[in-house]
Amino acid sequence: MKIFEGKVALVTGASRGIGKAVALKLGEAGAKIVVNYAKSEESALQVTEHIKNAAGEAIAIKCSVSNPEDVKDMFTEIEKSFGAVDILVNNAGITKDNLMIRMSDEDFSAVIDTNLKGAFYCMRYAVRSMMKKRYGKIINVTSVVGFTGNSGQINYVASKSGLYGMTKSAAREMGARGIRVNAVAPGFIKTDMTDVLSDEIKAAMIEQTPLKTLGCVDDVANAVYFLASPESDFITGQVIHVNGGMYL
Ligand code: NAP
Repeated sequence: MKIFEGKVALVTGASRGIGKAVALKLGEAGAKIVVNYAKSEESALQVTEHIKNAAGEAIAIKCSVSNPEDVKDMFTEIEKSFGAVDILVNNAGITKDNLMIRMSDEDFSAVIDTNLKGAFYCMRYAVRSMMKKRYGKIINVTSVVGFTGNSGQINYVASKSGLYGMTKSAAREMGARGIRVNAVAPGFIKTDMTDVLSDEIKAAMIEQTPLKTLGCVDDVANAVYFLASPESDFITGQVIHVNGGMYL
């Protein structure tokens, strides 16, 4: 029997990058996967096809996690298709970088709405059924910069530090109900999000990383897999740093 057989996993932002790697890994291990996405329908459907071709089960649901009504509808749709969510991976995230002095209200809010409020909305709905089952796994994808701060990312850093704070609060609140809430904090991982950075910035990031290399999406997916599995059942409110030593 596969480790996640009978479990339903919702991975937000699973059409690309880290979320896609997480969806494929949990799908391979037997979970029924909900591939959430905001815009990239074709990529999201490719992820579901990949899982189905490997004899797994998957559906794609378009929903901006920043919209509470849409999140509510997504959970209703999941319930109808697969049943209650057992594993929630809050991975959807965006950046809108700028120096604080030039940061617009819109760009500040957009990042908070997706990265922080989106995770809150998803947790709020997911814990309802998890509480009934007295078991559940929530993994929030934060970032190394949520721990170090970063110039030019005041909105993003606020969202990622906030997400870690929410992780600890939710872990305290939900522990007695058997719900484990943890975080993974990637460092510099090669995805569309980091491909837009200049070669100069990439070289500087690698220089700051003791292992002298970028991470790959599977490095993060492996940590999420561990936190989703029963092997981490006595761990809650923690963060696993996946950053090649960038933050020690
Ligand atoms: P990515 O390649 O840019 O992919 C972002 C994913 O999030 C896409 O699937 C996108 O869907 C989805 N998304 C964006 N806004 C959404 C919304 N409102 N509702 C639902 N889905 C939404 O990013 P990534 O590098 O894989 O990053 C994944 C997570 O890891 C993010 O939370 C990011 O902050 C975090 N992280 C990344 C790094 C890194 O170095 N890459 C480092 C630290 C932390 P569409 O394709 O439909 O737009």
